[in-house]
Amino acid sequence: MKSAVVVVGGGFFGARVALEFARAGHEVTLLEREAGLMKRASYANQARVHGGYHYPRSLLTALRSRVNLPAFYDEYRDCIDTSFEKYYVIARQFSKVSYQQFGLFCQRIEAPVRPAPDRVTKLFNDDLVEAVYTVEEYAFNATAIAERLTKQLTDVGVRIETRAEVLAVGPAAGGLVVRFQQHGQERELTAQRVFNCTYARINEINRRSGVAELPLKHEIAEIVLIEPPAELADKGVTVMCGPFFSTMPFPARGLHSLTHVRYTPHTEWHEAKPDSITRDSYDYLDSLSLPSAYPKMLADAQRYLPSLADSKYVESLFEVKTVLPQSEGDDSRPILYKPDHGGLTGYTCIMGGKLDNIYDVLKELEG
Ligand SMILES: Cc1cc2nc3c(=O)[nH]c(=O)nc-3n(C[C@H](O)[C@H](O)[C@H](O)COP(=O)(O)OP(=O)(O)OC[C@H]3O[C@@H](n4cnc5c(N)ncnc54)[C@H](O)[C@@H]3O)c2cc1C
Repeated sequence: MKSAVVVVGGGFFGARVALEFARAGHEVTLLEREAGLMKRASYANQARVHGGYHYPRSLLTALRSRVNLPAFYDEYRDCIDTSFEKYYVIARQFSKVSYQQFGLFCQRIEAPVRPAPDRVTKLFNDDLVEAVYTVEEYAFNATAIAERLTKQLTDVGVRIETRAEVLAVGPAAGGLVVRFQQHGQERELTAQRVFNCTYARINEINRRSGVAELPLKHEIAEIVLIEPPAELADKGVTVMCGPFFSTMPFPARGLHSLTHVRYTPHTEWHEAKPDSITRDSYDYLDSLSLPSAYPKMLADAQRYLPSLADSKYVESLFEVKTVLPQSEGDDSRPILYKPDHGGLTGYTCIMGGKLDNIYDVLKELEG
């Protein structure tokens, strides 16, 4: 039966969920507080198209990435940069995996891997680096994906309401009511199904709607954008697995990102735990004036990859990163899918810890 569907949040997940329902013939409205789609976490991230390599401590996440990669690649081929070489590097000290374990892990998940050529290994500090592997990992262009989704949604008849801040969701005769503020006016929509795809703000809407919070962990993350030195321009590097760094293309800007496990997260807090803090994650981020951790990231990273010293800082993207509490121990990225949350029939909270998780979400929706 065709029904009215409201999707709250025009990030990658909300947009893609809206598209799915519109394709199935439902009447879909997408409410997004920014001026366009994919302006928040779906833009301010590392842009890594996950192929499993990043999760040697969570076999399930790695395997799911292997399964979802071809689907993501097929769907967004023209929004994905495959033009660079990607290297995973195992550090001699403080690494949670040895080079043998990493090689074996890649074999187990059937992810292509081979020793990097000498011209590449000699870029690294041999005293600190045990092995360098060539892998097949790509980067997505978030702006290109946003443009694609905007066109697809428009073509299929989704009503996209931007600058629309959702205030609350509640029960109504025959379904649900969504109250939102747009251009200084309060408006409302009724629908049979409402999807809360607001990622870092899922609980903000839950609180405003008087329904239970979900256990989530948030951190303020800093992605540094750099102009890489010439010898790294066509390369991406991830040092595994512990307090190390990554630098790889950020196609939306034609720059490289630089992130560091120790310095990218600035602060963190939990929701729906005994020691949790109640705060609007966006307001909190806006209230902070954080000094960049770039000098610390660079100081450490250039010990492993000396040529990074010649990179040029461009800017930092600060964003709220949200994960499920179970991700803390093993760095896994399961999805959150909570239908009829808070006893509100038809109200579903959805969150994916990485873009390719969308296919796990779509499977739940089919289910
Ligand atoms: C630092 C960092 C690095 C990451 N690296 C990667 C990576 O390399 N690869 C990868 O695949 N994933 C990565 N991720 C995860 C990925 O970014 C997220 O899984 C994904 O972007 C979540 O998409 P989303 O649509 O749920 O969230 P978002 O893109 O944040 O979308 C939520 C939307 O909801 C809107 N919104 C919020 N409140 C309201 C409201 N009240 N009313 C209306 N609209 C509202 C927001 O404006 C926003 O557009 C990273 C995340 C971070 C933060």
